[in-house]
Amino acid sequence: MDLHSLTIHQLHDLLVRKEVTSREATEALYRRIGEVDGKIKAYLMLTEVEAIRQADEVDRKLIRGEEIGDLAGIPIGLKDILCTKGILTTCGSKILGNYVPFYDGTVIRRLKEREAVFIGKLNMDEFAMGSSTENSGFQTTRNPWDLQRIPGGSSGGSAAAVAADECIAALGTDTGGSIRQPASCCGVVGLKPTYGRVSRYGLVAFASSLDQIGPITKDVEDCAILLSGISGYDPCDSTSVNIEVPDFKRCLVRDVKGVRIGIPDEYFIEGMDPDVERSAKEAIDLLKKLGAEVKAISLPHTPYAVAIYYIICTAEASSNLARYDGVKYGFRSNRYEDLMEMYGRTRAEGFGKEVKRRIILGTYVLSAGYYDAYYRKASQVRTLMRNDFEAAFEKVEVIVAPTAPTPAFRIGEKVEDPLQMYLSDILTIPVNLAGIPAISLPCGFSREGLPIGLQIMGKHFDEGMLLRVAYAFEQNTDFHLKKPPIA
Ligand code: GLN
Repeated sequence: MDLHSLTIHQLHDLLVRKEVTSREATEALYRRIGEVDGKIKAYLMLTEVEAIRQADEVDRKLIRGEEIGDLAGIPIGLKDILCTKGILTTCGSKILGNYVPFYDGTVIRRLKEREAVFIGKLNMDEFAMGSSTENSGFQTTRNPWDLQRIPGGSSGGSAAAVAADECIAALGTDTGGSIRQPASCCGVVGLKPTYGRVSRYGLVAFASSLDQIGPITKDVEDCAILLSGISGYDPCDSTSVNIEVPDFKRCLVRDVKGVRIGIPDEYFIEGMDPDVERSAKEAIDLLKKLGAEVKAISLPHTPYAVAIYYIICTAEASSNLARYDGVKYGFRSNRYEDLMEMYGRTRAEGFGKEVKRRIILGTYVLSAGYYDAYYRKASQVRTLMRNDFEAAFEKVEVIVAPTAPTPAFRIGEKVEDPLQMYLSDILTIPVNLAGIPAISLPCGFSREGLPIGLQIMGKHFDEGMLLRVAYAFEQNTDFHLKKPPIA
């Protein structure tokens, strides 16, 4: 077997049996990147020298006969929104094109403590605003299943890199679907944790009441391992919750007997791709066969989700992005005569079109006189949506639906029509508004051979149940074993 195509748990077993070294695996990944990334364009930057150093350290431990953890020596890719000490962190934006953080984000620190190997920084939509990675200030990542199609977004670089075996696993972030939708488009597993489960310290902020960091992996077991590695309370993030982190691997029990699964009518929307609908329904039938109890439920405020999200996320973004003014760090225009002109030109030249659109929208919905009509109203409806989920979770343990209404669309297809682009996240946004966790895993292929994702949503802090249901499904199917045609 090629080393680059291994999962975390497979590589870990080979490392402890001393059949492979971390250095060999790391070098195999750089070779793979050399072969395919010219086409995929998942990476913005590679950190080879440091990666080899990290790998050698783990190998030395193994030679000394020391025990190593699940993530030690495992090559991982990082979405370029995560602050890495001494390593460029652009957030997909020209305005941060020269930004080198002087500290590590908490997830980076945790993974370093667990001796993971960082391969490089992965492409994304600028400031995580987008569903296709076409909004990157640097390059458009391509879907390994069809190079003419988008990999999803905003964590498109992470999902494409995992799918194309350019890293063993990756981290992404999800504000309205940015882990799950690209995972679905690229045929890999992605999990958005409960809001507060994973520290956001050192995550460049987009919409602070929605953002979460999570794993993108080749299978459900890896997802459990990586989630355990990054979760936990952090005093540096005031929204992180001090609650016990289970060993998520122990949740993988391969059994769903008696688990109550809710199917929301509102998620099988008009205009949904027929292949997506068919695959999701077949997946639900399989879960039923495996012993789950399937019930119809209702989440009646779902139709408002996209509208609410685009008020709340733009409002928060307009505030968070006010800091990019060319004064303390990041890009500064060199064409100005006074301070005001410097601010204006820096932002005009540094931000891309979608980011500007959101700053303008967000500033508008927060402005005096409109605040009550838009922002306050949106926050109230957000509470109703959260209540919908709470009522549903009195009857069921998890809710199952497709992740995205269509498989990956063509590059360029939606760039001129932001509303169409926003609708790609219609099935993932409610989860962020409610703060609950959800996973996407492969559940089929379209007639054109494109991957389709199944979404499983759970109660606050019940990622264990998501992983259990996902694992049972995965172990009874082989969608996750198929590799994209890029050879
Ligand atoms: N596509 C959505 C947006 O553009 C979600 C992005 C995300 O989750 N970061 O805002």
